[in-house]
Amino acid sequence: AKAEVNEYIQRVLDTVIQRNPGESEFHQAVKEFMYSMTPVLERDPKYIQYNILERIVEPERMITFRVPWVDDQGRIQVNRGYRVQFNSAIGPYKGGIRFHPSVNAGIIKFLGFEQTFKNSLSGMPIGGGKGGSDFDPKGKSEGEVMRFVQSFMTELYKYIGPDEDVPAGDIGVGPREIGYMFGQYKRICGGHEAGVFTGKGLTYGGSLVRKEATGYGCVYFVEEMLKEKGMSLEGRTVVVSGSGNVAIYAMEKAMQLGAKVVACSDSNGYVYDPQGINLETVKQLKEVERRRIKDYVQEHPHAEYHEGCSGIWTIPCDIALPCATQNEISEESASILVKNGVIAVAEGANMPSTLEAIDIFLQNDVLFGPAKAANAGGVSVSALEMSQNSMRFNWTFEEVDAKLRQIMSNIYRNSMAAAEEYGYTGNLVVGANIAGFLKVADSMIAQGV
Ligand code: GLU
Repeated sequence: AKAEVNEYIQRVLDTVIQRNPGESEFHQAVKEFMYSMTPVLERDPKYIQYNILERIVEPERMITFRVPWVDDQGRIQVNRGYRVQFNSAIGPYKGGIRFHPSVNAGIIKFLGFEQTFKNSLSGMPIGGGKGGSDFDPKGKSEGEVMRFVQSFMTELYKYIGPDEDVPAGDIGVGPREIGYMFGQYKRICGGHEAGVFTGKGLTYGGSLVRKEATGYGCVYFVEEMLKEKGMSLEGRTVVVSGSGNVAIYAMEKAMQLGAKVVACSDSNGYVYDPQGINLETVKQLKEVERRRIKDYVQEHPHAEYHEGCSGIWTIPCDIALPCATQNEISEESASILVKNGVIAVAEGANMPSTLEAIDIFLQNDVLFGPAKAANAGGVSVSALEMSQNSMRFNWTFEEVDAKLRQIMSNIYRNSMAAAEEYGYTGNLVVGANIAGFLKVADSMIAQGV
């Protein structure tokens, strides 16, 4: 049976590589997931009989479209837009939209694949989707961003809806872009269907805590991992990569729980502030003025700025929170973190650790919170935003925050339980993959081919 299982897994992996040539990030996400499937298939052959793995790695639908827009000089620009509707077994497609020049079909598929199991793990009734464009918002004027977003939505509106597919933000897409998307959707479709987007502004159907949710949730997850070992965040040194929505609120919650955050970054470089990062400065720079993290040292001359991104992982810390982007922790960076005595790593970004880096962490008994589990707080509060929109009601900050905390604790406990049950005690990578998989797979079987 073991040989049959491994042969089946290998065949599906080969199929993914053959059907999606060159899409290395998608291959990587599928590989990380597939290695966790061996114990599940060994125990229950029905997943092979129903050919669930081959079905689950194939998106239900991949939409690719032209996005033409006019820049401030009157020139016509063209970008490419994507939406992958990966899996709707447990609910409407749900997942963010990313605007970044690196976006391509493989990036969108890896994100949609991860989203499917993350959303399952959240315990909320949401399927997996993801979208984006290779549009680079950096340096674009307010008017250019608005015209681009309106053109993007003029095509995407056909495929989304409160019960069909519910987009949100991701890298390069925040409240401003969601506002423009919602406005354009409403202009085209008519009604005020609040539940068609999440991450909306608080004045038109947004949820309290949505902005903070991914970062707060990631730190709540770290709290759970530490608690199990009789430890806490109090007095710990923390390094957070990134300085976007996820990083800022991961820093805020870590500080509230008594930790000292000494570094953060953007795509150009990182700041090291041995006295502790001043979060008000970062918020002002990033959320209000849309400037570079380099400018932090103008306000705080005792801090250091370094060009390049991987150097941030050479700063000694107890807890590392990669909250920037995919593959930002290499094998080498992971080894340096381990050598410097890191206790816990939790992934605020999607797939920030390479496969080799994950192996280094697991082999050295670092407490490791994989993205599917550790950053599920964002989409969980998105699902709570959908609930509030359906009820035409709003919960208070304290109510949403309490629900988020409970969800993160459930994700931790369910992942630990699955790992234990399938013979991988303490391995949250395997635990999160299995717990996320079972609900999606069983729903697919129940709904027929
Ligand atoms: N982009 C976020 C994620 O990676 C949030 C998605 C959502 O809220 O739908 O999970």
